[in-house]
Amino acid sequence: MSTTGMTLIDTLRSHVESHYPVLYLVTHEEPEADALIRTLAADGERRIVEWNLARGLVDFETRQPKAAWCPLTDALDNLLQQDFTRDTFIVIRDAHLGLRDAPVAVARLKALIARNLADDEHSVTIFLVSSQPCVPPELEKFITLFDLPLPDEAAIQGEIRKYVDAYGLTIEDGTLAKLTNAFQGLTRYEIGQLINRGFQQDGRIDLDDIDLVHAEKRQIIRKSGTLEMLEVRERLDDIGGLDKLKPWLKQKAAVLADWPAARAFGVEPPRGVMIVGMPGCGKSLTAKAAATLFNLPLLKLDMGSMMGKYVGESEANMRRALRVAEAVSPCVLWVDEVEKAFVGVGRGGGGGGGADVATRLFGYFLTWMQEKTQQVFVIGTANDVSSLPPELLRKGRFDEVFYVDFPKEAERAEIFRVHLNKRGKLGQRVLVDRLAKATDGYSGADIESIVKEAIEQAFVAGGAAIDTERLLAVIKATHPLRDVMKDKVKEYRDRFDAMKIKEAA
Ligand code: ATP
Repeated sequence: MSTTGMTLIDTLRSHVESHYPVLYLVTHEEPEADALIRTLAADGERRIVEWNLARGLVDFETRQPKAAWCPLTDALDNLLQQDFTRDTFIVIRDAHLGLRDAPVAVARLKALIARNLADDEHSVTIFLVSSQPCVPPELEKFITLFDLPLPDEAAIQGEIRKYVDAYGLTIEDGTLAKLTNAFQGLTRYEIGQLINRGFQQDGRIDLDDIDLVHAEKRQIIRKSGTLEMLEVRERLDDIGGLDKLKPWLKQKAAVLADWPAARAFGVEPPRGVMIVGMPGCGKSLTAKAAATLFNLPLLKLDMGSMMGKYVGESEANMRRALRVAEAVSPCVLWVDEVEKAFVGVGRGGGGGGGADVATRLFGYFLTWMQEKTQQVFVIGTANDVSSLPPELLRKGRFDEVFYVDFPKEAERAEIFRVHLNKRGKLGQRVLVDRLAKATDGYSGADIESIVKEAIEQAFVAGGAAIDTERLLAVIKATHPLRDVMKDKVKEYRDRFDAMKIKEAA
């Protein structure tokens, strides 16, 4: 469902005119959906019939009940018995609540669709409107889903100006631009609420109100249940090695820091980076350090929490999570263990099985990556590329794909330096070059454990010095991850080689 090149109203109009039976509008902004439906109805002088869960069958404009309340099942029965004498729109609001676990409603809706399709004289279009999609499998082939976009920059500016005018205030261009940026990803309703609160506090609409916006966005994340906001302090200097990845990230940081100017200059919007490679070699560390470097909030997407038990629920969860990320934009969205989320993509046999759901989730994610307009910088991390669908690694999704291998000698020296230094133990008595030589095949995580273990042993030994010998003794007593996971490591490396992914170091 792409509306690229056409406005949403044009796309909807062409669907109505081509007799698509059910158009599902997914939105948190019902007034926007109503406005679209109203405009389309006016095109053809269509009658509008509405059912909503709160009041049953109502007048679309006044929302006044037309009869005693009835459940969707009865409303559909009533509609099935009516002969339509003119072109009609049937609006079912709160559609997900009306259709979920309601087989009779689903069956009657199917019957109504069949009747409408057979009606040669009048065109009848059903609009399902709700904040989340619920597409019963029986109706899947009749339904076309549309996500109503959140307000864009121009719409947000319009909204701010509306309040500024109403309160008889003035606003500087710079303040307007910054507020517009901060309001990205919120609904008109949320924007209105925040402006009102800001105005109540000090009688102004100004940059102080941005704090309110951030608080609101934190609320949205907490309510989402699928995203976590991480507090990070890691810096690029905490990473030993990866000397191709670091300058790359610095360049992106420079672009993101001055995005309006970069865009005006013709720079493409940064999409994100995929980091694949050996376990314990700094992928997660890099995601965190990148967020600090970009000076942006870091959101972690929990793929496990995505999977729902109803058809369409997993997709709805994903949709909501990505919406939330957009609401918090500009931000970094870290998708850890990408390979686990999309296991079985392309191997679905239909029928709504796990692999099928993964394929749809994946498709949605790719389209979103491709079309996202908000500043959400995605960092994907994965060990196992074998289960990753190749489309994900193809150019154009991510700006770059990096492969993180076990650190080489010089890098290991640096990693020792980082971890000893961090703990105030990088003294003259530690020769990191000797440690690096002795740790062929050790990961960054192995090296960190060695440093920690040596410090603990030194403490237990009565506060002894941390020197090369002590560290070498710990090294001798441990096995590097590469040996422990020999077969897996070989498998990963062969694949990375075959895919010719750029090395991060
Ligand atoms: P996994 O695939 O197992 O999730 P990962 O590549 O994401 O592994 P990290 O979580 O980034 O690994 O690394 C684990 C720990 O090892 C980090 O917290 C960090 O302290 C240390 N470490 C790994 N690589 C490096 C590095 N290049 N420089 C400094 N420390 C590192």
